[in-house]
Amino acid sequence: RSNAEKFQFQAEVSRVMDIIINSLYSNKDIFLRELISNAADALDKIRFLSLTDKEILGEGDNTKLEIQIKLDKEKKILSIRDRGIGMTKEDLIKNLGTIAKSGTSAFVEKMKTGGDLNLIGQFGVGFYSVYLVADYVEVISKHNDDKQYVWESKADGAFAISEDTWNEPLGRGTEIKLHLREEAGEYLEESKLTELVKKYSEFINFPIYLWSTKEVDVEVPADEEESSDEEESAESNSSEEEEEEEEDAEKGEDEDAEKKPKTKKVKETTSEWELLNDVKAIWLRNPKEVTDDEYTKFYHSLAKDFGDEKPLAWSHFTAEGDVEFKTVLFVPPKAPHDLYESYYNTNKSNLKLYVRRVFISDEFDELLPKYLNFLKGLVDSDTLPLNVSREMLQQHSSLKTIKKKLIRKALDMIRRIAEEDPDESHGEDKKEVEKSGDDDEKKGQYAKFWNEFGKSIKLGIIEDATNRNRLAKLLRFESTKSDGKLTSLDQYISRMKPGQKDIFYITGTSREQLEKSPFLERLKKKNYEVIFFTDPVDEYLMQYLMDYEDQKFQNVSKEGLKLGKDSKDKELKESFKELTKWWKGALASDNVDDVKISNRLADTPCVVVTSKYGWSANMERIMQSQTL
Ligand code: ADP
Ligand code: MG
Repeated sequence: RSNAEKFQFQAEVSRVMDIIINSLYSNKDIFLRELISNAADALDKIRFLSLTDKEILGEGDNTKLEIQIKLDKEKKILSIRDRGIGMTKEDLIKNLGTIAKSGTSAFVEKMKTGGDLNLIGQFGVGFYSVYLVADYVEVISKHNDDKQYVWESKADGAFAISEDTWNEPLGRGTEIKLHLREEAGEYLEESKLTELVKKYSEFINFPIYLWSTKEVDVEVPADEEESSDEEESAESNSSEEEEEEEEDAEKGEDEDAEKKPKTKKVKETTSEWELLNDVKAIWLRNPKEVTDDEYTKFYHSLAKDFGDEKPLAWSHFTAEGDVEFKTVLFVPPKAPHDLYESYYNTNKSNLKLYVRRVFISDEFDELLPKYLNFLKGLVDSDTLPLNVSREMLQQHSSLKTIKKKLIRKALDMIRRIAEEDPDESHGEDKKEVEKSGDDDEKKGQYAKFWNEFGKSIKLGIIEDATNRNRLAKLLRFESTKSDGKLTSLDQYISRMKPGQKDIFYITGTSREQLEKSPFLERLKKKNYEVIFFTDPVDEYLMQYLMDYEDQKFQNVSKEGLKLGKDSKDKELKESFKELTKWWKGALASDNVDDVKISNRLADTPCVVVTSKYGWSANMERIMQSQTL
């Protein structure tokens, strides 16, 4: 094309495309849900802008917020079109090729080590999945602020942009034309596309239409050539129903035949826009009527997590009162690749905010505290105002109430994973939780949760003083008595010896290392349980977690360990008085605060103990490794 400008793909983007083109990945279907998800994002954007600027939608067909899929069987082209926000020339250059996103290189890395291509959407490079099925792709786009442009690429390292002077004007939005590869012929079948939309894009909140062409039998009066029965044939929307209708039609024909013999059956082709999804918002439905399978599918589409795992838990509820909202929250089966990477720099909440069914934002910091950023879900509020800017919304007083309730519900939901997990009820005589049939399914779920998100709970204890006790209940760790399993503070307390006042713990790099510690000798002998804290974050955690259910925590390597009085204590103190005195003098006083007779050891003659408010040896080690 004479007016085409050529561009090279940014290097990482090129690698993404190479991976996709050369992929032996058999599930090529995923491209469709990626394109539909992009179309829905673009529609969400224009709808949001139209809240404060009605003009922006334009008029006529431009106001229809919908997605259309069309097939050209002869030319082997599949096109997907939306009336979303569209892209300017600059958007096309940046978004589809020259600017790599944070997930781009992460995706390349993941794929190198056998990652699942199915998760492409999570890395922000879903668009390029079109090259699983197409060898040439055109993106035609019209944004309100620019002319209509065409982006095109054969995935050969370059793309071209031209002002569009030959296609039909789109009005507004984007049309993506996939020139399908020879072996991708199945995507020219309407039944295949219908199936895919039902499978992967069921919860898209905009109507998805397919231009369907069908051959149907219609009955026409024998003497008339033209049929007037188009409407009847247009009603059938699945092949099963079609057959039924055909049967009905035949019966009808027999009856009619007696009365009116002058009719005949002809084949007729009709085409029409067929609606593929039913645009129901799952969160508006009664939770009792939503099946587990529906929640799972909804989670997949919301989180762009199309692995085959179920979410670990969900919570669907309606808040009433001063602030009304509906919400569905999910605990994902796995932590995303970058959960703790930029924990302190970003506040990327994964909740989508809707106001009266209109999508507002998925980057709304004020809904959940940082430590709960691993949750996925959405909030739809009727109380928040619709026609104000995002910044104004961010300040709205209702948000505090929403946040508070969301935290409570989230922590309840996590607690329930533990309560329903049969593995969790070992140890004390918990009252028999009502056993449901899917016990096996719930088995080990909390350990799984803890493995993926335990650190978030610890960060919560550090950051959220209000919910500290609730969060501490969710804490799991190993101990001298946990037998290689995870145990909880409640279980620890239930095993405490009569007269034991403190909860004992020790910090270090691993359980193996800690088990050999001289600090444990005496405690083990006396049958006290000691918690092992082996994560660097645990040192910080224990600076905030002072007590639990009226029991104080005691680091056994620190000053202040009290293990019931021994009758010999006084005697020993007396007889070693001189030695301790000498020793204290012999050690430089800025290195050692005190020398004492202790009853904390059994075999080891002496040990260095940290002062009550000082850093533990483990903390010293952590701090040192951080300054290096
Ligand atoms: P993601 O959707 O995660 O951002 P994609 O690779 O799917 O990543 O899409 C890249 C970008 O291209 C999008 O962020 C968006 O800016 C743009 N884009 C893709 N499809 C459309 C579309 N139908 N309408 C408008 N913009 C689009
Ligand atoms: Mg996308």
